[in-house]
Amino acid sequence: MATPISLVTGAGRGIGRGIALELARLGHHIVINYAGNSAAADECLEMVRAAGGDGITVQADVSSSDDRHRLVRETVEKYGRIDLLVNNAGVAPNVRADILEAGEESFDRLIGINLKGPYFLTQLVANQMISQNWREFAPQIVTISSISAYTASTNRGDYCIAKAGLGMLTALFAARLAEYGIGVYEIRPGVIATDMTGGVKEKYDKMIAEGAWPIKRWGEPSDIGRAVAAIARGDFPFSTGEVFNVDGGFHLRTL
Ligand code: NAP
Repeated sequence: MATPISLVTGAGRGIGRGIALELARLGHHIVINYAGNSAAADECLEMVRAAGGDGITVQADVSSSDDRHRLVRETVEKYGRIDLLVNNAGVAPNVRADILEAGEESFDRLIGINLKGPYFLTQLVANQMISQNWREFAPQIVTISSISAYTASTNRGDYCIAKAGLGMLTALFAARLAEYGIGVYEIRPGVIATDMTGGVKEKYDKMIAEGAWPIKRWGEPSDIGRAVAAIARGDFPFSTGEVFNVDGGFHLRTL
């Protein structure tokens, strides 16, 4: 049986690394994309190998069209195909600013990396998948959005709007790619312990203690990785477009 090939964006650190490690446990070969931290990406590759997988690291800024094309080209040159795309790379705003004051620069940056990047990378990879004449593995696309897709945080509107857009990305590509047998899914993480949330650790520690979500702990990158692995195993063949909440129950309304 052939080895599944996964392309995971932003896989050097944080949630992306957690995803890469869980896919490695399934024996995948993984293209570990990163933006600038090559040391973290190299360390991730070592961990992937130790977990039973293999792979390569590829630097590419997902907000750049040239970089996206190179990322896909290098992946296909190395492995000949892509079975799973995980749109994970993303950034928080450099400064949290009230929406009555926030500037366009931050908006353009967040939309470029968090929404336009995954949208056009998905387009590129989808066309590659369509051209593959796959037999063994039904290709799949998983996008990591956020509880911010539907939770209004008025001090980071740019981030929320980008994540809400990923919900429509999922719906659009799920509808368009079903005829090719390509499954498209979205995972909405809650608060996960990574560098991204390192700066607001005390705030969330307090919120967790006060019961902001029912499962009273931080999420771990492996929580998201396990959800991606469950999808990658192919156990949701009749569920394209599905949204998986991996958030400790944050999305529940209680009375
Ligand atoms: P993180 O620890 O800050 O890691 C971000 C990763 O994305 C890094 O590998 C980084 O590469 C990469 N990256 C950043 N900009 C990129 C670009 N332009 N092109 C390619 N790669 C880029 O963040 P995280 O917490 O793991 O978040 C991962 C995803 O989950 C993001 O989309 C985030 O919005 C989402 N999310 C996170 C949380 C949370 O609580 N942490 C909750 C919900 C959703 P380098 O290592 O090279 O810098």
